Amino acid sequence: MMFREEKKSFFGKMSQRIGDALAGKATIDDDFMDELEEILITSDIGMETTMKIVDMLRTEVKTNNLTKPSVIKIRLAKIISSVINKKEEQKLCQDTPLVILMIGINGGGKTTSIGKLAHKLRQEGKTVMLAAADTFRAAAAEQLCIWGDRVGVNVIKHKEGADPSAVIYDAIQSAKAKHIDVLICDTAGRLQNKKNLMDELNKMNKVIGREYPEAARENLLVLDATTGKNAVSQVQEFGDVADITGIILTKLDGTAKGGIVVTIADEFDMPVKFIGVGEGIEDLKEFDPVEFAEGIFN
Ligand code: GDP
Repeated sequence: MMFREEKKSFFGKMSQRIGDALAGKATIDDDFMDELEEILITSDIGMETTMKIVDMLRTEVKTNNLTKPSVIKIRLAKIISSVINKKEEQKLCQDTPLVILMIGINGGGKTTSIGKLAHKLRQEGKTVMLAAADTFRAAAAEQLCIWGDRVGVNVIKHKEGADPSAVIYDAIQSAKAKHIDVLICDTAGRLQNKKNLMDELNKMNKVIGREYPEAARENLLVLDATTGKNAVSQVQEFGDVADITGIILTKLDGTAKGGIVVTIADEFDMPVKFIGVGEGIEDLKEFDPVEFAEGIFN
C-alpha cells in the first residue's frame, strides 16, 4: 500500500494532466497527441522517448479504434512499461563474493545509497563490508563510517588523500579473511577531471581483478532524479569512463515528475536497479518497471 502511494507521487502531476487532457474527449485526435507529447516532455521524459511513446499510442488508437479515456490510460501505462522494461539483469547480481563499485558525483546520494544497500543486503542475510575509497574528501569516509555503525558493518578506510586503490586492496584482504559476501566500495566521482577519474577507476579494477578474480562485479551509477536532464548527461559521461552495470536513481520522493526513470531506462543500455525514495535506511527499493508504470494511473 505504502509503495503504491509513493509511486503515485512520482507521476502525480503527469497523471493528472493526462487525465485532464483526456476528460470529455469524444475522439482521440491529433490535438490530444500534441498535448500528451507536451505533458511527457515537461515531466522529464526525453524527446526521443516521448516520440516513441506517442507514436506507439497513436498506432494502437488507430488500429483498435480506441476512444475511451480509461482504455487509453491502460494502454499508455502498458506502452510506458514496455519501453522501460529491461529484460536483462534488472536485479542486483546475486553471486557471492560480490564487489560493488559505487560511482557518481558528490551530493547525488552515493553514501546514503551505500548505507541503504548495505542494510538491505544484511536483511537478506548477507555479510557486508564497506570500503571508503573516496579519499578525496575526509567527510566522505566519516559519513560512510556513520552509515557503517548504523547498519552494523565494518568500514575499511585510510587517511584523506590516500591512494583509493590501496583502500580497495586492504578491503579485499579483509573481506576475503572474513568471508564477506558483498564488498561495497565508495569512489570519488569527480567528473571535473575525467582522465583522472578514468585512471583511478582503471587502477581499482586492476586491483580487484588481480586480488579477487573470483568475485562477481557490479558498477552502480548513483544519480539524483531531481536534476532531470543533468542526470541523463551524467549517464553518458560516466558511461564513457566506466562499465556501468546498473543505475540507482535517488531522491525520487523529491520529484513529482518521475519521467527521468522512463528516459534513462529507454535511452541507455543500463538497467535502473534501485530507486531511492527518502533519506531513511529503508528507503531504497528494487526497481520493478511493470509495477512502476502501472502506478502512473493507479
Ligand atoms: P553523496 O555526496 O553522493 O555521498 O550524497 P549523500 O549520500 O551524502 O546524499 C546527499 C543528500 O541527499 C543527503 O542529505 C541525503 O540524505 C540525501 N538523499 C540521498 N538519497 C535520497 C533519497 O532517495 N531521497 C531524499 N529525499 N534524499 C536523499
